[in-house]
Amino acid sequence: MGKAKVRKQKQGNGAGLFAMAAHMIAMGAKRKPLLLLIFPLLMMGIGLATTGNTFIKQYFFESVEGLVKGNEQVSVVLIYGAVTAMFPVLLYMLRQLSNFVMVAFFRTAEGFMGKELNEKAARIDPLVYEDNRFLDQINKAYMGLQSVGDVVVSMIVLVLNQSVYIISMAVYLFNVKPALLIIFCISFVPNIIGTVVRKRMYAKMEHQAAPYRRRYEYFEKCICSREYVKETRLWRSEGFFKKMYRKNLRECTRLDWQTSKHVLFIELGLRCLTLTGYVGTIVMLFYFMSKGEVGVGVFAAIFTSLDQLFSRINELFDVQIGAIGRSYGKAQNFFDFLNLPERQGQLEEPLKREIIELKKVSFTYPGSDRPALENINLTVRKGETIAIVGVNGSGKSTLTRLLTGLYLPASGELLIDGKHVSEISPKALYRNVSAVFQRYQSYKMTVAENVKISETGKEGTADGAGNMAVEDSLEKADFPTDSEKLSEGLDTMLGKDFGGIDLSGGQWQRLAIARGLYRAHDMIVLDEPTAAIDPLEEADIYRKFAEISRDKTAFIVTHRLGSAQIADRIIVMDSGHIVDMGTHEELMRREGRYREMYHAQAKWYA
Ligand code: ADP
Ligand code: MG
Repeated sequence: MGKAKVRKQKQGNGAGLFAMAAHMIAMGAKRKPLLLLIFPLLMMGIGLATTGNTFIKQYFFESVEGLVKGNEQVSVVLIYGAVTAMFPVLLYMLRQLSNFVMVAFFRTAEGFMGKELNEKAARIDPLVYEDNRFLDQINKAYMGLQSVGDVVVSMIVLVLNQSVYIISMAVYLFNVKPALLIIFCISFVPNIIGTVVRKRMYAKMEHQAAPYRRRYEYFEKCICSREYVKETRLWRSEGFFKKMYRKNLRECTRLDWQTSKHVLFIELGLRCLTLTGYVGTIVMLFYFMSKGEVGVGVFAAIFTSLDQLFSRINELFDVQIGAIGRSYGKAQNFFDFLNLPERQGQLEEPLKREIIELKKVSFTYPGSDRPALENINLTVRKGETIAIVGVNGSGKSTLTRLLTGLYLPASGELLIDGKHVSEISPKALYRNVSAVFQRYQSYKMTVAENVKISETGKEGTADGAGNMAVEDSLEKADFPTDSEKLSEGLDTMLGKDFGGIDLSGGQWQRLAIARGLYRAHDMIVLDEPTAAIDPLEEADIYRKFAEISRDKTAFIVTHRLGSAQIADRIIVMDSGHIVDMGTHEELMRREGRYREMYHAQAKWYA
């Protein structure tokens, strides 16, 4: 059902065939405008020349006929003979040239479209990434790029080459004898039926086989993928998974084989029909020739060209129309992706962030029916350190994502220095903002690179608003740089993937904090990047953090209240609401959730 929904949406705003071609051609013409002039001429020329081949053969056979009858010179026959013999070779060379030009042109176009995708991916509203349906779309868009190429190239070959050839042949046949054209047209029928039937049967098969395919792909993963391998080995469950894998694979193969068999029989039947058309044309030609209505030369020319004509018609359906049918849907994904929503904010001037105000702000995740934040009112002034506390799922992370401007409120107002956040350009919005997210990344790069990634433009720029050196950031985050594990110091490679060393969870977290500190910022968020660090150490890190953030706006999210005490103000959250707010002392005086939680956790700090 979900599938049907997505498909419907695709057809709604998708690009048509011609829009697709226009887009890709425009991309290619950016760098290779000359080729755009050359390849259509080449392709149409080749189409016409292929029909010309039949003409030349006609003249040749007529001259031979003349020679036999004694009214043509040998030299003329030889010239026609030479041209007739050379023509296919020349055509072949031209075709190679045109292929080369096409490839050059469309490779360029594909390159630009890849760039287009990457740039788009960087501009998409981050909230889109929270929506599973869209995540799927993003992957598909990258696969779709290839399909756009398939569709457009097939279309161009179809329109500029195959059609030109087939239509000019039709005109030729019509001129010879209109009746020939009828037989010629009938020969399309089996191809049309074949294309439709094949598509239907394979679609039906795909529908039946899909669940089995998903299952066997899953079991395959259980046997050999990294996340499963430890359990699979320990439990010795390979045998079971292999059995399940084979069972589902067998069902898929069976369905495929069955369909292929049916399609084959239908194709054979249809080919008999084509054969009838083929033979019919020859018989008809022969009949006209015997009545003297068609010359021997024409008969011979058509007779020797029919093979080519029929195989080109087949190719048109099997190759070009086939490719368009197969790839059109996938190609749509590329254009759907380019249409994903982006931030509209235009205000470019740097923000001072003197005051951030949330007024009756609510927020709901895409695909969720319960708001993650409801009716939030909060004013934050520059330089404040604010702790956000509350149980899991109470909305702490979501609140920080709004405060940084990553997500926009669904209702209510979020104002920075009096400006609506939706009107501020992303560049201005994220400038001088740093954050360490709950699910931070562990980059497979060196220690130093893992820190510097937060501010890639920093090197070489001398200004740096309170910039810290890499070493300082690591020190402030209590990352043990003198550990003997780091054989090459800060240039030690991390992560197993590229032959580096692995760190413990706590060390990765400290590294992530160092990264957050390294980025030039006047506002920073630490969203519980400390789960793998014990409570006392966390409190220590946060204390240091508060020191270096004294003149900056800082948000620390924690469910450990011992760490929250360093804050100027503590916000207590519950089920998407701010339920209390104040200093540690104020909150402790009140009979409320904060005091309850504090006492429950007191033993951690004993
Ligand atoms: P906290 O950080 O306090 O643990 P969050 O802000 O992460 O809480 O989550 C608040 C609420 O929003 C929770 O009910 C959670 O289930 C929901 N939520 C968080 N992320 C998503 C998401 N990507 N899609 C849908 N719901 C989400
Ligand atoms: Mg959270």
